[in-house]
Amino acid sequence: MTTRRTACSCGQLHLTIEGDPSRISMCHCLACQRRTGAVMSNQARFQRDQVSIAGEATAWKRTADSGHSMTFHFCPTCGSTVYWENDGFPGTVMVAIGNFADPHFPPPNIAVWEESRHAWVALPFDTPPKRAAKQG
Ligand SMILES: [Zn+2]
Ligand SMILES: [Zn+2]
Repeated sequence: MTTRRTACSCGQLHLTIEGDPSRISMCHCLACQRRTGAVMSNQARFQRDQVSIAGEATAWKRTADSGHSMTFHFCPTCGSTVYWENDGFPGTVMVAIGNFADPHFPPPNIAVWEESRHAWVALPFDTPPKRAAKQG
């Protein structure tokens, strides 16, 4: 089974994850743009029991445009948001792909909130046809 490790910028907040994600997505919503400072958010969804969390995190909760409550966990030292939960998907954890610092991490296969997508951002050319979904 694949074991992956992800960490914040300073390294004190880190996760060890067993097995593969059930979903890998790209979110173009404005809230994700503000949270990341990038023009999109990329995340992988895991079952909570795949994920071991170590280090200190500060939680910040907001209600998403989808109506779901989302709780983001970020490092109080460096500010990097490493993982979050969405009450619409109980028992799962979303993990920011960039924090794996692994250019070989599998690509996203779904994009959401494309109405606020920057025009130059696109999914990989071989992405399968889109399924209807609105979740970050
Ligand atoms: Zn940190
Ligand atoms: Zn978003």
